[in-house]
Amino acid sequence: MPELPEVETIKEDLRELVAGSEIERAEVLVPNLVEQPSPEEFERRIEGVSISDATRRAKNLIVELDSGDALVLQLKIGGQFLLVPPVQEPNSALMLVLHLDGNRRLFLRDETGYTRASLLDQTDLEARFSGLGPEPLDEGFGAEYLMEAIGGRRAQVKPLLLDQKVIGGVGNIYVDESLFDARIHPRRKANTLSRAEWEAIARAIRENITAGIEHRGTTFSLYRDVLGCKGSHQDHLRVFMRQGKPCPGDCGGKVVREKLSGRATYLCPACQDEDGPGGDGRLELE
Ligand SMILES: [Zn+2]
Repeated sequence: MPELPEVETIKEDLRELVAGSEIERAEVLVPNLVEQPSPEEFERRIEGVSISDATRRAKNLIVELDSGDALVLQLKIGGQFLLVPPVQEPNSALMLVLHLDGNRRLFLRDETGYTRASLLDQTDLEARFSGLGPEPLDEGFGAEYLMEAIGGRRAQVKPLLLDQKVIGGVGNIYVDESLFDARIHPRRKANTLSRAEWEAIARAIRENITAGIEHRGTTFSLYRDVLGCKGSHQDHLRVFMRQGKPCPGDCGGKVVREKLSGRATYLCPACQDEDGPGGDGRLELE
C-alpha cells in the first residue's frame, strides 16, 4: 500500500496540478468510501469550494479546502488519484469523482476497494492525527527518539518500527530495506540493540524514505502518481520482493522471504544476524 514516499508524491502532484481549482461537483460512487460525515453531507460540503493546498501526515493524504474543511484520504492497497485530462478517463473501480473547473476531473479509484475518505474540520483533523509518531524526516526523529520510544521493549524490532504510533508513514517496504541497510535482523528484540545499531536504523530509515521520494515511489502493481505514472524506486530495492536473488552485500548469500507477525519480510540471514553482533543479541542490555 502507498507508504510515505508514494503519498508524498501524490501530494506534491496535487499541489502543482490542482491547488486553486474549484470543485464544482462531487460524486461519491461507493458510499462506504466515506467514513465521516454521511456521503450526502460529504458531497454537499465539498461542492463549490476550492482546493487551497495538499498536505500529508504519515500515510494520509490531506486535500485542504478553502471552506476550512480537510478531505483526508487513506489510499489503501490499490488507491489511485488520477487527473483527467491528461490521464485517460478510467472506467473501473471508481469510488469518487471530483469535477473541477476547466473541465478537469479527479478520479479516485481502488481495485481493492479499501481506500477511505473523511471530511474533517480543523478540530477533528488534529484529533485524527494526535496519536501518530513523528515523521522520519522531521528534526525530532533519530536514534535518541527511537531509544526513548521503543529501546526498552522486549518485542521484535520490525513490528515496532511499523507501528504508526512510533513512526508516521513507514510501512513494510521501507522497513525491510532499512533493516537490511542497518544490518539488523527484523526479529531482534528492541531491548538488545546498541546505540550504534539504533543510529544505523534511524539513518537507514531517513535515507530510504528520501530515496523513495526522489524516485517518486515504489510501484509493484497498482501505485500510480496523479498523472498515472509509475514510481521507479522498485528498481533500487535491495531485499524487498527479491527472495532467491543474490544479496547485494558481499556475503555471497541469497535474500530470503519469511513471515513475521503476519507480514512478508525480506532479509539476508547472513548479513542480518538474528543473534546480533558477536552472537549476543539474545542477551538483554538492561
Ligand atoms: Zn548478505
